[in-house]
Amino acid sequence: MPLATAELIRRGETLPMLVGGEWRVSGGFETKEVTNPATGEVIAKISYGGRSVAKEACDVANSAFSAWATMSTRGRSDILLRASELIAQRAPQIGELLSIETGKLLNEAVGEVRFSAEYFKWFAEEIRRPRGEVFSLEDPTRRQMTITRPIGVVASLTPWNFPISIQARKLAPALAAGCSVVARPSEKAPVAVSELFRALVDAGVPDGVVNLIYGSASEQSYALIEHPGLRAVSFTGSTEVGSSLMRFAADRIVRCSLELGGDAPFIIFADADLDAAIDGLFIAKFRNNGQSCIAANRVLVSREVFDEVVERIAKRASLLKVGDPMAERTVDIGPLIDSARVRDVASIVGEALSKGASFIGDSPSVPEGANYFRPGFLKDVPRDCRLARDEVFGPIAGVFPFDSEQEALELANDTEMGLAGYAYSKDSSRIFRIAEGLNVGILGLNHSLPSVVYAPMGGVKRSGLGREGAHLGLEEFTETTYLSIGVS
Ligand code: NAD
Repeated sequence: MPLATAELIRRGETLPMLVGGEWRVSGGFETKEVTNPATGEVIAKISYGGRSVAKEACDVANSAFSAWATMSTRGRSDILLRASELIAQRAPQIGELLSIETGKLLNEAVGEVRFSAEYFKWFAEEIRRPRGEVFSLEDPTRRQMTITRPIGVVASLTPWNFPISIQARKLAPALAAGCSVVARPSEKAPVAVSELFRALVDAGVPDGVVNLIYGSASEQSYALIEHPGLRAVSFTGSTEVGSSLMRFAADRIVRCSLELGGDAPFIIFADADLDAAIDGLFIAKFRNNGQSCIAANRVLVSREVFDEVVERIAKRASLLKVGDPMAERTVDIGPLIDSARVRDVASIVGEALSKGASFIGDSPSVPEGANYFRPGFLKDVPRDCRLARDEVFGPIAGVFPFDSEQEALELANDTEMGLAGYAYSKDSSRIFRIAEGLNVGILGLNHSLPSVVYAPMGGVKRSGLGREGAHLGLEEFTETTYLSIGVS
């Protein structure tokens, strides 16, 4: 059976929001076009609202909260398990929509949908194993313990780069904990993610417990945070927007969990397995067309193996195939999300080239088309360049030599960000020194795909607050009440 969203697109209809269990296109909404970044073609239209639909969605989420929060955990768990199965069954078709609207490779897109199904499964299981504390009998006339309760209505605000899995990483623990949710995905990738909500509705999530709104980011995010019923905001996106939301949330003391920008160092020591390190680098740099928050952003290479590594990555980068992933299944890198992203990456590269940096190796061929960007690595990048200091968020990185482990750590930590890092070395003592010395929240050591549903993801410093995934991810959506009970 075709996906409901694909059917609407085929019929040329505007994609609706979901408010209080009703799929809506009317309500004074405007419409906004969504384009395929590989071709520039309009692929769908979405309803596009403002403050009032955000407020209404929060009202209905607030009304739906208490029945969902007090449903048995078994009941919530069963619904989320059904949703997980539906998402997994529909993954090939949802993945196709996702690839078309974001330009990500089809296998990565389908993988992202399957990964999202896993979040619902994991949290459906986890919620049946509550944790609390029972304190020791310090005073025999009392029994003392903690219980947890869902925090309330949650705003789930997400970016375009992993539009489905990042929503799932918030929705699954929030719903499992007993919260109701108003979700606002990025207007740049709003299509495939709507199928998460269809699966949740089909699985039996009651009306009003999950709501999906589209519209003006600045109007809707702030309307949600100032709503008296909203208790938590879970945001993934840029540090700039995250800190502005946090300042706004401070007024009402709304809990914030923030997954923000990255600037991951990728360290290759002379004693590394260089084949594994280079394989890992190409995954960590070019996955999702270079637009991943945990992407390798600065490549730090021991001077002892610097020339060899540079030569090997130059050869390999020149073989990368860039193109439209839906037209040619063998491409390695698709387009960037839009022309603004291309301009930003181009200005980062342009500045580095103008200050003496150079591309390593020959250029792979890049098709004509607004959103494609030549992937690769640059050397001789001065430290004051944006390429050495900012998140690139594109298929480019600078390669920098270091002379000692201490210098590698200093260079790696010389950033305001602290989301992820990678290091390759066969020396297990060094691996632990790096793990304890790198100031990041996620560390890939001798491998470069650390994201799993059962481990906590999140950053330190300006990369964010809080953790997603694992039991810590559930705690972002619960409150703890301490009970002290007198007994005679
Ligand atoms: P962004 O901050 O521009 O957008 C994120 C969300 O915020 C989108 O839904 C957008 O519509 C909304 N938004 C934009 N401007 C806003 C405003 N002024 N007020 C309120 N909301 C606003 O980020 P992006 O370009 O979509 O994503 C890229 C950034 O996200 C990168 O910095 C990346 O590292 C980060 N990111 C982090 C993680 C993580 O897990 N830490 C994951 C993915 C992306």
